[in-house]
Amino acid sequence: MNKKTNTEKQQIVVVGGGFGGIKAALELSHNEEFEVTLISDKLDFRYNPTLYHTATGGLFRQSAIPLSEILEGGNINFINDKLVKLDRTTKSIELESEKILAYDKLVLALGVITNYFGIEGLSKYSYGIKSPEEVKRFKAHLHELLQDEGKPDINYIIVGGGPSGVELAGALPTYMRQIMKRHGIKNRRINVKLIEAAPRILPNSAEKVSVAAAKRLKKLGIQVMVHKMVQGMDEDSLMVSSKDIPSHTVVWTAGTSNNPFFKDNDFNLSERGKVTVDEHLIAEEDIYVVGDNANTPYSGLAQTAVYDGHYVTHDIEAKYYGNEGDAYKPKFPATVVPIGYGWAAFEYGKLRLTGWTGWMIREAADWVGYHDLEPWWKASQQWATEFGAEEECEICATKK
Ligand SMILES: Cc1cc2nc3c(=O)[nH]c(=O)nc-3n(C[C@H](O)[C@H](O)[C@H](O)COP(=O)(O)OP(=O)(O)OC[C@H]3O[C@@H](n4cnc5c(N)ncnc54)[C@H](O)[C@@H]3O)c2cc1C
Repeated sequence: MNKKTNTEKQQIVVVGGGFGGIKAALELSHNEEFEVTLISDKLDFRYNPTLYHTATGGLFRQSAIPLSEILEGGNINFINDKLVKLDRTTKSIELESEKILAYDKLVLALGVITNYFGIEGLSKYSYGIKSPEEVKRFKAHLHELLQDEGKPDINYIIVGGGPSGVELAGALPTYMRQIMKRHGIKNRRINVKLIEAAPRILPNSAEKVSVAAAKRLKKLGIQVMVHKMVQGMDEDSLMVSSKDIPSHTVVWTAGTSNNPFFKDNDFNLSERGKVTVDEHLIAEEDIYVVGDNANTPYSGLAQTAVYDGHYVTHDIEAKYYGNEGDAYKPKFPATVVPIGYGWAAFEYGKLRLTGWTGWMIREAADWVGYHDLEPWWKASQQWATEFGAEEECEICATKK
């Protein structure tokens, strides 16, 4: 290979401590020609796929891993700060702390934000499970309500029949039964409703998978409502297709939109608001955009973000050594959606498996997910946290 005659190390700046950013930073840091800096506004890495489980009795640790642990012993400069501005002419970025950082190559992996589509009342009254902070608030509410009212809410409503909503709906009844017992509440029925605007839940999966998932939810006692539009929310109810459903517990899992950084900094955006990238995931000269931010066919999945992080490492290296680098080939994803304990729907192309086999695949997939960013022994320890259960909620402990 034809190495470039640089005497100074290439400054590679990666922004975003999620799946895509960490994967890229870890792999790039193996090349001694590169000085790698990772910037993230959080001190931990969020393993989003298990957030539904954290919200329903699992440990917080399974969904949040300290970045210091993942980056330990590596060759990465970590800065805990927020990217606010890009200066293309000086090839530098500005952070919230007003620090300016120059780059030779910039990799952006900022993830998405919640979108309420302007529906009135949702941002104020609904709950979310897109981060450990949101999960904490949701769990506090579940417990507080039982503690204060001495009975469950009239309805527990989950909006969004995508994987996150379906997973939460499947796990919620069991968790509610457990915590009602803890709060000394007996023989109370729990009404869980799952609301989806499309004609079927899991609309991105094959119809057979949607049907199996809906059947499973029904068996768990969940009312699945499809073709229903959420129109507004107030303190006591959710308006769905012109009818009010009483509830103080609405979880919004339905919408996300791209990180506002890209619009604010004049990136070229696709119709769905994602950043337009070329066949090397390059958005502009020396700027790569990966994971949820990039307008690629399978963006919006952790596995795609990890794959993208791996791809840009190769592309940056290829270009450093004077080569063009192979074009990006989108990787067809597998999906596996757990619905209640011991059951999951697995899908990869025409291969579909449901039930216990699906559940076992999901367990294996989580191990692989952790191992994408950690050595096998750390990934195994991390994976074991999925089998731990919360001992006591903070609210029960303080209010007893
Ligand atoms: C509840 C839930 C469940 C999910 N389940 C699955 C699943 O089962 N399987 C699957 O494949 N995918 C799943 N996903 C999707 C998956 O989590 C995302 O596709 C993946 O996280 C995208 O990776 P990313 O690197 O693009 O962004 P992220 O992982 O979101 O990382 C973005 C990082 O950038 C940081 N950041 C943001 N803005 C700034 C800034 N301005 N400056 C500095 N840092 C910044 C953020 O704090 C974050 O650390 C799920 C998502 C959610 C919310």
